[in-house]
Amino acid sequence: MAESTELLRDVFGFDAFRPGQEEIVDAVAAGRDVLAIMPTGGGKSLCFQLPALMRGGVTVVISPLIALMRDQVRALRAAGVEAGALTSANTEEETEAVWSALTDGRLKLLYLAPERLASVGTQDMLRRMDVSLIAVDEAHCVSQWGHDFRPDYLRIGDLRAALDVPVAAFTATADAETREEIVARLFPHHPPEQFLRGFDRPNIHLAFAAKDQPRRQILAFAAARKGQSGIVYCGTRAKTESLSRALNEAGHAAIHYHGGMDPDARRIAETRFQQEDGLIVAATVAFGMGVDKPDIRWVAHADLPKSIEAYYQEIGRAGRDGAPAETLTLFGPDDIRLRRSQIDEGLAPPERRMADHGRLNALLGLAEALDCRRATLLRYFGETEITCGKCDLCDRPAEVFDGTEAVRKALSAVLRTEEWFGAGHLIDILTGNATDKVQARGHDQLPTFGVGRDLTRNEWQAVFRQMMGHDLIRPNPDRHGALTMTEAARPILRGEDTIRLRRDTIAAAKDRRAPAR
Ligand code: ADP
Repeated sequence: MAESTELLRDVFGFDAFRPGQEEIVDAVAAGRDVLAIMPTGGGKSLCFQLPALMRGGVTVVISPLIALMRDQVRALRAAGVEAGALTSANTEEETEAVWSALTDGRLKLLYLAPERLASVGTQDMLRRMDVSLIAVDEAHCVSQWGHDFRPDYLRIGDLRAALDVPVAAFTATADAETREEIVARLFPHHPPEQFLRGFDRPNIHLAFAAKDQPRRQILAFAAARKGQSGIVYCGTRAKTESLSRALNEAGHAAIHYHGGMDPDARRIAETRFQQEDGLIVAATVAFGMGVDKPDIRWVAHADLPKSIEAYYQEIGRAGRDGAPAETLTLFGPDDIRLRRSQIDEGLAPPERRMADHGRLNALLGLAEALDCRRATLLRYFGETEITCGKCDLCDRPAEVFDGTEAVRKALSAVLRTEEWFGAGHLIDILTGNATDKVQARGHDQLPTFGVGRDLTRNEWQAVFRQMMGHDLIRPNPDRHGALTMTEAARPILRGEDTIRLRRDTIAAAKDRRAPAR
């Protein structure tokens, strides 16, 4: 595994790069001058923080906002990275501590308020240190025409000349004039490598489907694309083997790939996939890094990925040649449960677990999106101007209905049984199905018993799944996955908020025969 990917996982706790990050990280780590334009929220800080760990010495970060610097320093320290800030908001002790870490050569990142550059002392001090990189956050602050002009930013040019180290500049401001001015002021002698890439991959068609009969769904998807190279991502090693067998039996050329195979077998699989036309690989996420096949025509997920970042990275392996490519991601309540428990049972500290739940929620929001999927995906990465027309929801708009009533009934069933039961039992209660278990617990006596007879069992399953997707209910890891209500559900329960659900998944569920009640 590449060093950057390892650091990404071990230090920052992320399972995949965001769009654009990896190329920038590579360029900065290699010591090239870089100007990167990324939308706000796109994940700029990682693009200098990670290279800072890969390069020797200390990285100086110029940033205009004290609060932002302090946040970043706190987060880095929490991740075990030596970082400090010199700003006017420091206490004397803080400044002392930063100095001593700096002189000991322990500090990896030094955040500096631009005013500091005006002091001769600071410049002298930096000259004596082993500075390996200058990172400039909010680089548009050097632009005199911009709204955020900070005169002290003009001193960065001198600093750079004095230290003779590469500069990596970042901004979300993309207009050409500002860019030119940044280049002129920060890179007067040599233009930097510029990264200005939208995150959209317009040739990739996006689609999600509720998991119904996953093997059949994947086989049908592959059958419609016979002879094309594709990847099926699976949640387990065993599934890669069984699915590749099923694909072969269905007349495809398919192989499997996972981290448990010995290195030789993996290499052979990679080479075959790279060289043969129309081969399908059923793989875990271990497959893909370093796979550089331009004509992968489709990527399917037999199981829900880990996060929205992982999703983007995995589907992004399709259609690198720019020709049309298709994707399909299957998801169901079991996936949601599995991904939640992986987060809850991990060893990450509580804040990181919360962030991981947030990233999973973002993916679930995408899975349960009510309108354009591409817009939902790219908005998450900070893009605002989005045209699509190439996703399942643009092809066939979702039919949406007011699900408030159904959700309130379901929440009431959750609460009246004191958050001790899973969806199956709750649906028995809602649909008035007096099973032995329902009777034994006296749940046929609850006011909620039978209030949901207007929906079929399958329809209720879709409601519960969407409720999990909206993070209104979560499986409780301490209660064998019994569903508990989250804070997000309170306003709906209290009648202060409404919720729209998708009808089409329910309609699809209705097409099937409901099991005997
Ligand atoms: P900005 O581009 O606005 O400076 P930040 O660097 O603050 O954005 O990143 C925005 C958010 O994205 C942060 O919460 C950060 O933790 C998160 N983030 C950055 N990179 C990744 C990644 N590869 N995977 C998941 N989350 C990420």
